[in-house]
Amino acid sequence: MNVVDSHCHLDYPGLAEDLAGVIARAEGAGVRLMLSIGTRVKKFDQVLALAEQYENVFCTVGTHPHNAAEEPDVTADDLVRLAQHPKVVGIGEAGLDYHYDLSPRDSQARSFRVHIEAARRTGLPLVIHSRNAEADTAAILEEEMRKGAFKPLLHCFSSKAELARRGLKVGAYVSLSGILTYKNAEDIRETAREVPMDRLLVETDAPYLAPVPYRGKSNEPAFVVKTLEKLAEVKAVTAEEMANATSRNFFALFDKVPKPGWVP
Ligand SMILES: [Zn+2]
Ligand SMILES: [Zn+2]
Repeated sequence: MNVVDSHCHLDYPGLAEDLAGVIARAEGAGVRLMLSIGTRVKKFDQVLALAEQYENVFCTVGTHPHNAAEEPDVTADDLVRLAQHPKVVGIGEAGLDYHYDLSPRDSQARSFRVHIEAARRTGLPLVIHSRNAEADTAAILEEEMRKGAFKPLLHCFSSKAELARRGLKVGAYVSLSGILTYKNAEDIRETAREVPMDRLLVETDAPYLAPVPYRGKSNEPAFVVKTLEKLAEVKAVTAEEMANATSRNFFALFDKVPKPGWVP
């Protein structure tokens, strides 16, 4: 089985200390490629350094909504310039997080729109973080899409079905995390049933949100296989079919990543 972990944070504590081991275990589990996601532009160098070190690691550049107030001066020009590097294949993660509200909502929204502009100008996908912010996320996506197309990815999908539906309408892909495997996540599984096979991705969001049976432990890319298997069950296909579909979708969306021979 060949799987892509479309969202992890390899520079974070819990993964960075033993990255060679983390990557070896991922490869042993069939995880052929990992996308390490930026959360602070001022720490982007560290994210990029890891992507440069490993052939099967790529990265994105951006400011997480938690950190939006910390990085008010990041411009679309900055993001576009940093995205020129061949290992940078996406913009983000950016978006709205009203669960923690770690940055004021207006600065989250302003940063989100800056990232959208960078995604539009580069043609690279935008990795969107949205938590407890369905209506505002969807409204910004729809409004910005009318100004000019870009490629949205709703990562770690854990919102109400409404956001998936409105996202799908503007061309978004939807990525499922370990939350899909949690006992109380029937609503997420129901939403996943609605998402067409050609719009689905899987991710770990490691070191967070380890899937069952590793729930509570530090997550790592190897565990994405558990989420993939659950998604296959939800969609009533084999794990192999789901691995093929999600890998195909990943390379269709992140088309700056050179497509390896194993992609179906
Ligand atoms: Zn996120
Ligand atoms: Zn993340």
